[in-house]
Amino acid sequence: MIIFKNALLHSPPQESIRADLLIEGARIAKIGRVESGSAHAYENKAILPGYIDSHIHLLEYGYSLIFLDLREARSRKEIMDLLSSQLPEARKLGFLYAFNLASERLTEADWEPLTSDLDSIADDLPIVVRREDGHSVYLNTKARRWLLYDQPIAEADTPLAGRFNELAVERMQERIPRDVRIEAFIKAGADLLGKGVTAAAVMIGDEASLGDVEVIRSIGERLGIEAALFPQNRDVEAICDLELTRLGGCILIDGSFGSRTAALRKPYTDAPGNHGILYFSQKELDTLVECAEDAGLQMTFHAIGDEAIEQLLTAYEKTIDPANSRRHRIEHAELLAPDLIERAAKLNLILGVQSMFEIAWGQEGGMYAGRLGDRLRWTNPYRSILDAGIRIAAGSDAPITNPDPREGIKAFLNHPITEERISVQEALAAYTYQGAYALHLEDRIGSIREGLQADLLVFDSDPFQTLQFRPSAVIRRGKLVAGSI
Ligand SMILES: [Zn+2]
Ligand SMILES: [Zn+2]
Repeated sequence: MIIFKNALLHSPPQESIRADLLIEGARIAKIGRVESGSAHAYENKAILPGYIDSHIHLLEYGYSLIFLDLREARSRKEIMDLLSSQLPEARKLGFLYAFNLASERLTEADWEPLTSDLDSIADDLPIVVRREDGHSVYLNTKARRWLLYDQPIAEADTPLAGRFNELAVERMQERIPRDVRIEAFIKAGADLLGKGVTAAAVMIGDEASLGDVEVIRSIGERLGIEAALFPQNRDVEAICDLELTRLGGCILIDGSFGSRTAALRKPYTDAPGNHGILYFSQKELDTLVECAEDAGLQMTFHAIGDEAIEQLLTAYEKTIDPANSRRHRIEHAELLAPDLIERAAKLNLILGVQSMFEIAWGQEGGMYAGRLGDRLRWTNPYRSILDAGIRIAAGSDAPITNPDPREGIKAFLNHPITEERISVQEALAAYTYQGAYALHLEDRIGSIREGLQADLLVFDSDPFQTLQFRPSAVIRRGKLVAGSI
């Protein structure tokens, strides 16, 4: 039993209130007046529902905690030194894997490692370096053979031979042993709990395999957080056999702006004639959406550029019911001109969004501006989206961005385009209630209400005043799991 006296309860879209709160077992037993008697009660705390990350690649985020992270590197030399320093560890595993290379942030602007650069670190061990956006990797000669054995080397997708696309990324995922996967899931879960994330929409598996569904299930309670799975695979029958209720996640309709593979209605500003890539024909996508709908699955897909979003809207428009009772979503939905917002609103779709993208790439003179020119005005237009009556569920897309909701909330409040900023209440709702709604779980998590699961965050001072959203304690299912009260 835990008692909070005179607590300030923030649980948007409900009004914030002051009340006593009683936790019994795993549930919120009472909100109102609670007589504490001789029991100890905590006084004057602020309490929020546990955060929900609505889009995370949990396994890969775990990998980023295990393998080398290059996010802070600022020069070619730093990157090469970091990779070299990793060699002893890498030799034990049989490969070197590094994450989050962001060439646009290096002092040598836009330097990208060539195969020969990576060969100079080691030519007898596969070296795989992932770009920050996760859509391409750089490989040394050994890794090319290891991952792309049946592909001619000339298939490198840029003139800078060394960089390879999603196929190589997928192949790399398959190479990682089961015990490393389990360790990665558990590390990621513990890390998220510490940040106040008590539940997550976990994007899992790929077209090649859904084996990780069994791996994450085998971990059970040791995962720490609640994981709602989105299998990233088109095999409706296999998904139903696994008793999953959702389909999709980052099933790619298109790629990313960083790699110039997001599909655009008009060409890239910095690459005339290049419209990006659509991975589905309209017909293929229509068929998949129809099959998943017939099977009763909730769906979502990765669509970033306006051409890709339009293709997905067209497929949804042909199939789904106007109330969108299955709560189908679009992930990222980044370049959203008003005509697309209107169509998404008509379908009552939910958008799984990442506010941190704007902080990383949406600044004046940033990557979006270079790739999109004036279209920058309509990247991630959250105010316009909410004003159209569309729900947003906030996620990190980790390891692409840091899955710390206090950073995500701050990013919503500091959108580079002032008109597209949203309120603290709306940002918190996107990280709590709307996240639960977007998973059909709002009757169990995502709010502070009597009878709901006691997944709660405790603050010593009111975060709506301080704008500091890192909790001092995290309670999950009625138990203190991180920090202290
Ligand atoms: Zn994605
Ligand atoms: Zn993703």
